[in-house]
Amino acid sequence: MRLTFKNGIHPHDKKISTSGLPIETVQPKPGSIMVYPLSQHAGAPCRALVSPGDSVLLGQKIADSDAYVSAPVHSSVSGVVKEIKRTLTPSGLYCDAVFIENDGENRAAEFTRRSLDDIKKMPRQELVAIAREAGIVGMGGAGFPTHVKLSPPPGDKISAVIINAAECEPYLTSDHRVLLEETERLIDGIRVLLTLFPEARAIIGIESNKTDAVNKLNALLSEIKEDRISLAVLVPKYPQGSEKQLISAILRREVPSGGLPSQAGVVVLNADTTIALQRAVLRGRPLIRRIVTVDGSRAPKLGNYKVRLGMTYRDFVEHMGGFKQAPAKIISGGPMMGVCLFNLDAPIIKTSSAFLCFGEGEVKIHSERPCIRCGRCVERCPLGLMPLELNAAATAKETREFIQNNGMDCMECGSCSYVCPSKRHLAQSIRTIKRAVMAERRKKADAPAREVAKT
Ligand code: SF4
Ligand code: SF4
Repeated sequence: MRLTFKNGIHPHDKKISTSGLPIETVQPKPGSIMVYPLSQHAGAPCRALVSPGDSVLLGQKIADSDAYVSAPVHSSVSGVVKEIKRTLTPSGLYCDAVFIENDGENRAAEFTRRSLDDIKKMPRQELVAIAREAGIVGMGGAGFPTHVKLSPPPGDKISAVIINAAECEPYLTSDHRVLLEETERLIDGIRVLLTLFPEARAIIGIESNKTDAVNKLNALLSEIKEDRISLAVLVPKYPQGSEKQLISAILRREVPSGGLPSQAGVVVLNADTTIALQRAVLRGRPLIRRIVTVDGSRAPKLGNYKVRLGMTYRDFVEHMGGFKQAPAKIISGGPMMGVCLFNLDAPIIKTSSAFLCFGEGEVKIHSERPCIRCGRCVERCPLGLMPLELNAAATAKETREFIQNNGMDCMECGSCSYVCPSKRHLAQSIRTIKRAVMAERRKKADAPAREVAKT
């Protein structure tokens, strides 16, 4: 059976230039300033736990929040806190950030090692708390705090854990390299997950264009004979890495509109997130690094880099030897769902999967033409939405109509914009109105608290 989901698109995967390049580790230079935004995740921003002048250790928690949906932030270097001020994140938003001068000594906090046998005796809440304390969030892009995913509502019986190794966005190969180079750690991370969900089986969902990783995983799985772990090789298609599409492709289960994967009995974790869980639980390490793919004709040096979180893109570019030619456009993340990066002083954060640098010829800016009602956007939308109607509602600022047409379900994958012959900015307009609706909802939710504060 050909495993895939309904609709979607087939962009050229453009992965060939970096998929064969081993991961290179980047060390931040002594004296460099590392920047840690207090909001690198979905949910409530953190508040700083340190002040200017404080000495910090590598791996020390420097920010946290009392909110359930949030994730603490840790220093990835040892050094001294210089200041706490507003800064631009790669997502294009401003938030407070802790600035730390790296002393280059890598003096580390204490990390507690545990064996797989140790964790089998631990209460599940303790394991989930370790994931939370380590600041782990979804590293595939959404940045959803992992401890929340690991704590589904009691009524949701989890029968499957899916490891998302689809990496369907063009250019991105960081997960591919991790699957090849950290295979044993991935399997240990899956064993941790299976301890948390004793009734579940684990399925690694990977696209067939990663042949070497498929072969390596198959060989390892037949060697270790873990009958609760298997591989599902998927037909390459975009956006296969979206949770709902992956669940549909592998298990043929549907997540209800506005619902969570756990309602379909599934928990989905990205491959590198699973490795971050392994590092947190078995080695006591917080999330302080990530793999970043560097590609595009104006990239300083193609490859996959293991980068400490908090390093600025400016320092990263300098490490790679600088730009040979100035890029016309830089994207943080993939070309479909990433965001344009306007300032190299922004830091690499937990969700920074790629750094793509393009020249003039590769970034055509199309002006929109009128919709010809060809229906291609509807045919390709993986969620069965009506992008042309959502675009019309967004353009007219008809919020109610947008919501009635399930616009808030849109995952902003960009498949509709990709196929539109009139080059309408469908996904962009939908994203804008979604942000406005969410801001309005937050304002309403905060209003009673503001009233109480006034009295
Ligand atoms: S693909 Fe573009 S032109 Fe065709 S119906 Fe959708 S919005 Fe209109
Ligand atoms: S409407 Fe949303 S989910 Fe559907 S194709 Fe467009 S961006 Fe993707």
